[in-house]
Amino acid sequence: MTSLHRSGRAPVAAPFSSAEQIRQEQRHGAHNYEPLPVVLARGEGCWLDDVEGRRYLDMMSAYSAVSHGHSHPRLVRTLIEQAQRLAVTSRAFHNDRLPAFLARLTELTGLDRALPVNTGVEAVETALKAARKWGHRIKGIPDGGTEIIACHGNFHGRSIAVTGLSSEPQYRDGFGPFPAGTRLVPFGDANALARAIGPRTAAFLVEPIQGEAGIVVPPAGYLAACAAICRERRVLLLVDEIQTGMGRTGRFLACEHDGVRPDGVILGKALGGGLLPVSAFVATDDVMQVFTPGDHGSTFGGNPLAAAVALTALDVLFDEGLIERSAELGAHFLAQLRTIRSPLIRDVRGRGLFIGVEVDATLISARDLVRRLLARGILSRDTHGTVVRFAPPLVIERETLDWCVGEVRAALTELEAGLCKTA
Ligand SMILES: *Cc1c(COP(=O)(O)O)cnc(C)c1O
Repeated sequence: MTSLHRSGRAPVAAPFSSAEQIRQEQRHGAHNYEPLPVVLARGEGCWLDDVEGRRYLDMMSAYSAVSHGHSHPRLVRTLIEQAQRLAVTSRAFHNDRLPAFLARLTELTGLDRALPVNTGVEAVETALKAARKWGHRIKGIPDGGTEIIACHGNFHGRSIAVTGLSSEPQYRDGFGPFPAGTRLVPFGDANALARAIGPRTAAFLVEPIQGEAGIVVPPAGYLAACAAICRERRVLLLVDEIQTGMGRTGRFLACEHDGVRPDGVILGKALGGGLLPVSAFVATDDVMQVFTPGDHGSTFGGNPLAAAVALTALDVLFDEGLIERSAELGAHFLAQLRTIRSPLIRDVRGRGLFIGVEVDATLISARDLVRRLLARGILSRDTHGTVVRFAPPLVIERETLDWCVGEVRAALTELEAGLCKTA
């Protein structure tokens, strides 16, 4: 008997249809999301089925958390085998899966040490804590006086400190006060960064391509210029590759496009192979030396289950050539999308399989296009009502992308016809 029965309340009936599932979620869940009206029940590769058995192409891959595709067989095998052997130990003891994972992370990033955590925002917080302590202990900024510079339009997660970095009024509204010591500069403008740096600046935190802001690609050489400025002014360059890393833009890290080796790299999302939350802050010895036992940690961070799955997630990227695949198929998909002639499209941009289609917001909302695509069996999401983002699992086939382009074209034609009628 469950406590529900004992409490005298009726047990919740097992719902079945999409409508019932949505009603139950609406009734019992906090309304901090507004999902599209599709209830997913099964996934394989880049395909998802809803509870009624309708099939959809996943052009979102959970904001790049599912870059390996849904239920990748090798990742699922690792998950099951490791779960049956040993899953969680805490860092009070060593475990036999963590060392190889850490070694691979440092090898692939060209950095010295990795600190494993669970969700992305935890890894960002870890980077911010490291930067503040480095600023004080190593750079000699007075304790409590360090400053972090981030970019307008950034997205680094949802904790209070990280929300304090956001320039998006809705993300901040009602959640203050926020930690002091943050400053924002325009994204893509290295001179603005140079001007903003002061004697108390410890670090510059940046996404190589801004995802949530609408797949905003900075001018060529931006990151390299920032890296040079940071080196000259003795400011840490911290790159948030939670979404752009793991091959999403056609390189293992997006900062490789600019030939930049940052002081710290933040990884997450696809690091968990689409199965678990696994994130990490990877940095130089110079940065990581500030952490001593007891300074910082996470109960689940570096657990053997997460370490085993994440190491396999890294191996699969290379063994299956998913990074080159992202570069090649991304360029193909971008070129195909650019052949669409529609007055509703303002811009098509991106790198690798990380692509945004910006609509003319005076004519339609990006959400209108998302809904048309949903009706055609394609899952995508808009950001800020102006950009539809396409970031499919990297295992997607070229023919599937070509089919998707045809559906986007058809959806736009429908929307244009609708506009003509109302005009
Ligand atoms: C998703 C994301 C985060 C936050 O990751 P969570 O796992 O949701 O905490 C931080 N930065 C970037 C660039 C992201 O895309």
